Parts: sequence; structure tokens; C-alpha cells
Amino acid sequence: TYDYVIVGAGNAGLVVANRLTENPKIQVLVLEAGISDENVLPVIVPFLGPTATPNTPFDWNYTVTPQTNLDNRAFPYPRGKILGGCSTVNYMTHHYGSSDDYDKLARDTGDAGWSWNNMQKYIQAHEKFVPPADGHNTTGQFIPEKHGFKGVTSISLPGNSQGIDARVLSTLDELKSEFPFNPDMGGGDILGIGWAQSSIGNGTRSSSSTSYLRDANSRPNLHVLIHATVTKLIPNGFKNGRVSFGGVMFTSTNTAIRLPSFVYATKEIILSAGSIGTPQILLLSGIGPKKELSAMGIPTIIDNASVGKNMSEHVLVPNIFQVTGSESLDELLRGGSFLDTSLAQWTANKTGPLSNSVTNQLGFLRLPQNSSIFQTVPDPSTGPKSSHFEFVIANFWLNPGISVPATGRFFTIVTALISPTSRGFVKLASTDPFKAPIINPQLLSTAFDRFAIREAVKATKRFASASAWKDYIIAPFGSNNATTDDEIDAHVRSLASTVFHPIGTATMTKAGASWGVVDPNLKLKGAEGIRIVDASVWPTIPNAHTQGPTYLVAERASDLIKADQ
Ligand code: FAD
Repeated sequence: TYDYVIVGAGNAGLVVANRLTENPKIQVLVLEAGISDENVLPVIVPFLGPTATPNTPFDWNYTVTPQTNLDNRAFPYPRGKILGGCSTVNYMTHHYGSSDDYDKLARDTGDAGWSWNNMQKYIQAHEKFVPPADGHNTTGQFIPEKHGFKGVTSISLPGNSQGIDARVLSTLDELKSEFPFNPDMGGGDILGIGWAQSSIGNGTRSSSSTSYLRDANSRPNLHVLIHATVTKLIPNGFKNGRVSFGGVMFTSTNTAIRLPSFVYATKEIILSAGSIGTPQILLLSGIGPKKELSAMGIPTIIDNASVGKNMSEHVLVPNIFQVTGSESLDELLRGGSFLDTSLAQWTANKTGPLSNSVTNQLGFLRLPQNSSIFQTVPDPSTGPKSSHFEFVIANFWLNPGISVPATGRFFTIVTALISPTSRGFVKLASTDPFKAPIINPQLLSTAFDRFAIREAVKATKRFASASAWKDYIIAPFGSNNATTDDEIDAHVRSLASTVFHPIGTATMTKAGASWGVVDPNLKLKGAEGIRIVDASVWPTIPNAHTQGPTYLVAERASDLIKADQ
């Protein structure tokens, strides 16, 4: 037996594993369904990040159900199945969201511990801000006071300058009333467009595995088992009038015969299987909506209607332009000699285009206050410092899931819906734990969401009309030439997917609330012995790519767990 069993060696799970084993007397076992990340080149070389998924051996290879509001398209829905989880396969954009996100979380849960005021200290614990791969002078590209320099995970500014950098900055100057420059969105103030910060150090990916696990790996009290798929939580009686859980059932998948094994925790089980894995395990264990469980023939242990519900996502739409010259990085995507020389450069000294993430600039923007939608729909953003949509600016064809055409040069402004009001769900498709659950994010199912993403696409057109792009952009590519609302809606429906940021499927609410899956201390409602620590506990999606908020939740969760020891 162990003091703690952590389910999932992902983004959050490895933070908790590291923090709990700081005490040499505490024995921790982490069970991870996926493989080791050692020597897996696509997850090490930053620019190759997008090739780590979908449909690879380190992806769960999920697919969303056909999306009614996206021309009934189903599309791949990657999740990392590897040490580090999604932090090992993601695109490495790194920040924490708006201070409003945390203050709303504190208000909604009645726990001031989640407020921005309190959570900022975890940035110091988590972050090790390091120089970019090319060692350029970063003055004016970030605000040092907002960062940590002695934490665990390496974070850096873009490590390879791009031909379009000057054009973006010139646009921010020319159109500053609509697109102001943000000197640093890494610390709560996210509005405006500025330099991207990424989980990269020394030109290589910094994941929860290469940071939190590597940092703790030599501790004799930390045990990590890979190829171990957890299939059920095991109850062991009643405590304080609630069902108590003391163990988990898992199956090793690298053995010829798959037999279930059991392991027990004397203190707690920490469920960190992510926004898809966590509700799946809860449902398989009889924790969820009784009606759904009964329909599957699963005896209900805890009837909780919220498990797997309230799923929220950032909808992504690539807006692609055809461009002139040789500044774009499309040749890297096509393989060939540019990729060969770039790989040689990266191998030699971890610099060059491959040492960088997919973007040098991104930013968060609000709809104008007098937008017509606000006559009928209340503003769903988490507060005035929060956004409705995002721009991610890429110097190449950035269209997840659709390969770059054989010829042509491209520039992409990805738009993402940041304050969605649509809610989806994760449900069991089968009682077989090795079968993927049903994942339906119900994207763009509300009038607000369709309005906001349409306005975001229109904003890209105004951005691209600045004088800096006149000698660069030839024409919008494909359906990006849409001009009327109907045409823009069709463009969105045909291309939209997600930024792969699911949250909310094990929502945190006030103790005693009529809905929700965990209390503000992350303990499973109605149970003893289980805590949930991953992105699934966020009730409202933060104004961020979700690894940063996940790291902060996991850092505070570790303190909450330690406080109960
Ligand atoms: P995960 O990191 O997914 O961890 C869950 C772990 O549990 C995994 O290792 C999984 O294999 C394991 N697991 C699941 N089920 C079981 C089981 N039954 N038994 C044992 N183990 C199990 N965020 C950003 O901030 N920036 C980005 O640029 C960005 N890009 C992304 C790109 C992609 C392709 C993807 C997929 C995600 C991206 N994200 C990004 C999102 C971000 O990475 C995630 O929100 C975050 O890492 C989730 O952390 P987590 O701990 O909740 O889950």
C-alpha cells in the first residue's frame, strides 16, 4: 500500500506527485495508462509539437461526435497518453488566464483561496522563466515582476524571430485602439496582443514530465507505473456517513494477458486523468447520473447528475491568407531540405525554427460593449479584464488536422472563442474501460457563441488590412474570402474545431451546492478518500490555454492535500 495513489501522470498528476514526495516519509504511486516520453522526438522538438497528435501512439485518439453546428463534422480530439499527459503533446503556449477567472472561481466556490490574490504565489513555485533559445534581448517583451525564476517548469519568450514579427508590431501601432500591445499577458492582465510565452527551455519542450517528474524522479518514495490503465475506484466501506474509497483497479497493457490488479492508498486517491479520463473513471465506478448508469447496467454508488456534464471548450477557426516571399515557415511542414537543415541546427545547438512553438504573438480581445448580442445575452466573460476571443498569429499554414497544400506560402490568424456559453458532455459509450467514451462538446450551440466567433473572424480582416500586410498578403485563402455574415458563418462551420482545452466535466462548486462534482477543497462530493486534481474541476473555462491554469490548480491542490495530512 501507498499513502497516495495518483491516477494519471499527466499535467496535474505529476505536480501533485512531486509536491507530496517532498516529504520522504510519504509513499506515492502514480498509475499512467500511456508510455514514457523518453527519446520521443515529436514531443521534445518544440515546432514538431503539432505532429505529436492526432492519431499517434501517444494520443488517446478520441473523436468528437458529429457537431450539429459545424456541418455535422466529427473530428479528432487528441489527449496525451504519455508521461506528462497533454503537457507533453500540446502546443506549449503558456500563461494563466485573467485575474477575473480566479476571482470568479473564488466567488463561485466561496473559497478565497482560489482568488488571484492567493493564486499568484503558485506562479512563483511553478515557473522558471528562462532566456529564449536564440538569446535575444527580451527587454520590453515581458514584465519580469510578473514571473517566477526559481520554479520547476521552464517558460520562455519566442526563440526564433520571424519575418512577420515587425509586421505584427507595426499593426499593433497602427490599429492600437482595436489591437493594443500587451507587454505581458503571463500574469493576469491578458487583454491586447503581445509576445507569446511558451513552456520551452533550452530550445526543448518543458512538460510536467521533464520538469516536475524529472525533478522528483530520484526520490525513493515516488513510484511511477506506465502502461497501467485504471479501470475502477474501489470502495472500502463508509466513513462519516459517506462512501469511502481506498483503492483502484488497474490493468497493465504491456503484458500479453490483461489481468486486473488492485492497489490501495491509506490516505487518499488523487484522480488526475484529465477532463475525459476523470469522468470516464468516475462513471465506470458507479459515480454519476443514476439514470445513465442504470441504462449501462452499472450499479450506482454515488448518484451525481453533474459527472461528465458542463464540458466547455475554446472553439478554434483558422483564417488563412496566401502570402508572397519566403518569410513563411510552410516549407518546414512539407519536409524536404529546409526541415533537414533546421533539424541539423536544432540537433547541434537547440536553436533555429524548430526550437520555437507555433506562434510568436497572440492576444485576447473583447467584443465592443455596444455589440448587438448584449441586448439579448448577458456578457458571459468572467469579468471586465477578460476576453471574448483570441488571436494566435502564425507565420505558416496553421490548420490543425488539414495538411498544408503542396505549393504556396501562408499566414494564419487563428481565432478562438474564449467565453463560450455552449456546454457539452462526456458519457460512457460502453462499460468496457478500454472503449472511448462519447465526447460531445456541443460547439457553437448558442447564439452568443456563433456571434462572438463571427465577430472574431471579422476582426482578423481588419487586422490584416493594416499597411504592414499590403506587400505581403496576396489574398485570403479558400473560404477565408467570406465577407457577408452568412459566408463567414459557413467558413466557421466548415473549418472550426477546438483548441483542445476541455474543462468542467468534474466541476468544482460550493460545499452543499445542488450541482457539481467536487467541493472547493477538490474532494469528491458525497465520498471520502477521493480528490480530483486536473483541468476537469474548472467550472468556467479560463482566458488561457489551459495548461497554465491546470498547473496552478495542481500546485494549490498539493497544499490542500498536505494541510490534511
Ligand atoms: P492530462 O495532461 O491529459 O493528464 C491526464 C493523464 O491521465 C494522461 O497522462 C492520461 O494518459 C492519464 N489517464 C487518463 N485516463 C487514465 C486511466 N484510465 N488510467 C491511467 N491513466 C489515465 N494548453 C496550453 O496551455 N497551451 C497549448 O498550447 C495547448 N495546446 C494543446 C494542444 C493539444 C493537441 C492538446 C491535446 C492540448 C493542448 N492544450 C494546451 C491543453 C492542455 O495541455 C491541457 O488542458 C492540460 O494539459 C490538461 O491537463 P490535465 O492534467 O487535466 O490532463
